[in-house]
Amino acid sequence: MEILIATHNLHKKEEIQQILGPEFIVTSLTDYNLNDEIIEDGNTFQENALIKAKYCFEKTGKGSVGDDSGLVVEALNGRPGIYSARYAGNHNFKKNIEKVLEELKDEPNRRAYFITVLCFKDKDGEHYFEGRVYGNITTEVFGEDGFGYDPIFIPDGHNMTFAQMLPEEKNKISHRSEALKKFLEFLNSKGGVL
Ligand code: IMP
Repeated sequence: MEILIATHNLHKKEEIQQILGPEFIVTSLTDYNLNDEIIEDGNTFQENALIKAKYCFEKTGKGSVGDDSGLVVEALNGRPGIYSARYAGNHNFKKNIEKVLEELKDEPNRRAYFITVLCFKDKDGEHYFEGRVYGNITTEVFGEDGFGYDPIFIPDGHNMTFAQMLPEEKNKISHRSEALKKFLEFLNSKGGVL
């Protein structure tokens, strides 16, 4: 079955493909040559996920999944939150990480969570699925793998950052996989037909 995700992010597409497994074919905006810039001006993860899903559904007529994710840091009153991708500049992971570490420099409270909100939109309406993974922010960068804030996030119950884990390990416990599992349960409840 095809699962159409409203993203151009190849890394995200691959992660989702790995989580869903080979029975699914994950496609993206790139596969449909949809290159308009989607303005994510929602005030919540839910609103941004809907904006992406709606754009994709309106352009393709196919049931579409929009996803919005981010890092929520307790001591920073929830920042970077919905601004995670552009916290210190446009999609510059290194600068974004530096900014978070600098802001937490003298802060003993390192609690944070990653969140993913998926919005599935088709002709019958919208459904939302949320996943979270809680953990702590490190004081320096560890690991090469992954993307975004992976090198500074240690999930609870582990002693290494997401960037030090094998992709399969991260995908087993990540916010994205929890949200996708809920989406799959929804799919099954519809008899596996989109
Ligand atoms: P998006 O809405 O899924 O594109 O995510 C926005 C931003 O949140 C990304 O650019 C990353 O900086 C951050 N982010 C989301 N998911 C992850 C993750 O699994 N690891 C690290 N950073 C993430």
